[in-house]
Amino acid sequence: MFIGHFAFAYVLISLFPGVPPLIPLLGVNFPDLLWPVLVLLGIEKVSIDPESPLQDHVKFTSYPYSHSLVLGTLIACVFGLGLAFFWSPLAGFVFVVASASHWLLDTTFHIKDLPVIGFGSDRKVGFGIWSYPKFAFIIELLFYAILTVLTFPSKQIPLLVIGVAFHLINANSFLGLTKKNPLKSANAYAILALVGILAFSLVANFVISGWK
Ligand SMILES: [Zn+2]
Repeated sequence: MFIGHFAFAYVLISLFPGVPPLIPLLGVNFPDLLWPVLVLLGIEKVSIDPESPLQDHVKFTSYPYSHSLVLGTLIACVFGLGLAFFWSPLAGFVFVVASASHWLLDTTFHIKDLPVIGFGSDRKVGFGIWSYPKFAFIIELLFYAILTVLTFPSKQIPLLVIGVAFHLINANSFLGLTKKNPLKSANAYAILALVGILAFSLVANFVISGWK
């Protein structure tokens, strides 16, 4: 899930207008900002399929730190405490809630690869909407559009444009427009994920902050 996480950030931004929008925008994506860094460092493991660009062919074989509910949220708490100390306790709280929301939303789309605890004898969960890629493409877009309209009813157009634009950029991972995978390595996938999330966050922050 990509644009869907940003939609939940909009909910948090409208609920907590005193918190800088960039905090929920980055918070909802904290696990997806963490895994690329950990993959590049060789700590977490992901493999891509050179024969298919589809998202359900990406195998997150090990990502207990970024994508477990318990351990991942504990790591988010460390950053949340930093925000509470340097910004405000509310900002820290919103960041941790945002990060935990990522795991909950990911459980809908991911195939069973999301660890619950992150260590010991663990189980992995995921309802696997990604196994129905065309359906997933539509559901994520609808989810984004509905939450955007509900949370920013008078300012929905630019946010819908950003969402649709990034969803279309991401369309190959749902629709398999190219036969082979244009990404040649897990590291390339990691860098693309980082760039995509940071770009979306900065553009959305610019648009939302401009209205305040
Ligand atoms: Zn994720």
